[in-house]
Amino acid sequence: MDPMENSKQCGICEDEKSSGIHLFRLFICSDCETNMIHTEPREEKYQYYLHKLKDIQQPPIYS
Ligand SMILES: [Zn+2]
Repeated sequence: MDPMENSKQCGICEDEKSSGIHLFRLFICSDCETNMIHTEPREEKYQYYLHKLKDIQQPPIYS
């Protein structure tokens, strides 16, 4: 079986991972999910995660 078959690109670390969660339209691998849970708002990484998550929460633009 091709291991790439079930893998998706993580929206945070951009690696191809097979296990993780879907948050809105974004796939977050289990590694990043764990990292995010353990990141404090005062840490620089937190801003990075927020920035990534903000991208997917943009409402669609109607023209
Ligand atoms: Zn990841």
